[in-house]
Amino acid sequence: MSANPRRTKILATLGPATDAPGVLDAILAAGVDVVRLNFSHGDPASQMARATAVREAAKRVGREVGILADLPGPKIRIDRFAEGRVELTAGERFDLVASHDVPPGDVHQVGVSYLGLPGDVTPGDHLLLDDGLLQLRVDTVEGERIACTVLNDGMLSDRKGLNKQGGGLSLGALTERDEELIAVAAEAGADFIAVSFCRNAADMHDARRIARAAGSHAALVSKIERAEAIENLVEIIEASDVVMVARGDLGVEIGDAELPGLQKKIIRESLARNRVVITATQMLQSMVESPIPTRAEVLDVANAVIDGTDAVMLSAETAAGRYPVKAVEAMVRICLGAERQFKADTDFEKAPRNLEKADQAIAMAAMFLSEHIGVRAIVAMTESGGTARFLSRFRSPAPLFALSRHEGTRCKMTMMRGVLPFDFDSRGLASRDAARVSIRQLFEAGMLEEGDRLVFTSGEHMEHHGATNTLRLLQVGAGGQAEGLGEL
Ligand code: PGA
Ligand code: MN
Repeated sequence: MSANPRRTKILATLGPATDAPGVLDAILAAGVDVVRLNFSHGDPASQMARATAVREAAKRVGREVGILADLPGPKIRIDRFAEGRVELTAGERFDLVASHDVPPGDVHQVGVSYLGLPGDVTPGDHLLLDDGLLQLRVDTVEGERIACTVLNDGMLSDRKGLNKQGGGLSLGALTERDEELIAVAAEAGADFIAVSFCRNAADMHDARRIARAAGSHAALVSKIERAEAIENLVEIIEASDVVMVARGDLGVEIGDAELPGLQKKIIRESLARNRVVITATQMLQSMVESPIPTRAEVLDVANAVIDGTDAVMLSAETAAGRYPVKAVEAMVRICLGAERQFKADTDFEKAPRNLEKADQAIAMAAMFLSEHIGVRAIVAMTESGGTARFLSRFRSPAPLFALSRHEGTRCKMTMMRGVLPFDFDSRGLASRDAARVSIRQLFEAGMLEEGDRLVFTSGEHMEHHGATNTLRLLQVGAGGQAEGLGEL
């Protein structure tokens, strides 16, 4: 195989900056694997339009691109100000009024549409606005009025988010609006649906049930971003397909000093449970305004790669930044550099012993071989993506070509580290013919070269999920002909 492909996946948020002509194609060409549609902004028609634009652009770029629909969840926001924004001064009084009919805000007060807020706060609590840029201390709560003292000078503008330090806001994770938007995500054909501010496994089960009822086959993503989610971390991971370290809100709720430890823990616990994991927010924040990242940002992205994340995410950098394409290029460069430092974790002492299914056993054997006899690639036929997911949890250095005839399966695999999805229909082919034909195709596509050794896994009948039960050791011969490997 020619160059070593990038293994860490790049997720980019769409927004006004990527709506500009040519930008979507450019970020995909630069290496974006999955796009995020932020359902907190824009109407269903604009989400549908963006999803369609992504599918068309992906065809032009000639690569599978996943679509993640990110539900707003119960993010509490202040209402609007008469002047769009106000400047607040430390020590002054500023009230939040939980009611639907408060006049537009000013320097004395602003409305909040979450009517339960007065019941969730007590004097002495700290409320954080705009990801913690502005802090208020609660002094008294009377009826719908929460009287506060401003703790730092700062600007506050329309619709900024509000969190309580330490967590404890009682809102459920799935609002009525989220339920409506799950139907929009289903119609847009989203490959991933992200549940914001989930608290426990039940929130994830509810989201999954609603998504399936709406006809969506999307993978469910839990966003770990509130204090309660940390308490219920393991059950949430088990109820999710993909887990997001949502550092923006999480840092506000639990304090930024806890973030590095939690990021490592969430990644470790997710991988141990065979789940895919995304590291998100402010990864290259300065690139919203600047064409180059800070050294600290370079180190942050690289450290997430070394922690073992599957994907790194760009938010405002691509959605609203001045340099969306340069931000993606920086991600690509930093991920490739960090992957050279990453020590593959193929410690088989730690590998699960209680294997339940043949496909898991085959995946384990494939990884053992790729490590011990040194293969150039692993090629796996997969119906549901399950074999690819299991294989990719081992973080072997060999690239993993995952072949599936299902577009939905290929799009879900765009999030998995080291997995390169390919379209291949094995129906009607015996497994050794499937190996022969697919290896020739990968050779013709320039993905394999003569002399490459590989592990090939498949089932007898690949029409069934979890049917992988065969492993072959092969070598690419002249003209891309697959040959059995004898001498090691
Ligand atoms: P958001 O989620 O960008 O939707 O807020 C990610 C985070 O909170 O980090
Ligand atoms: Mn968030």
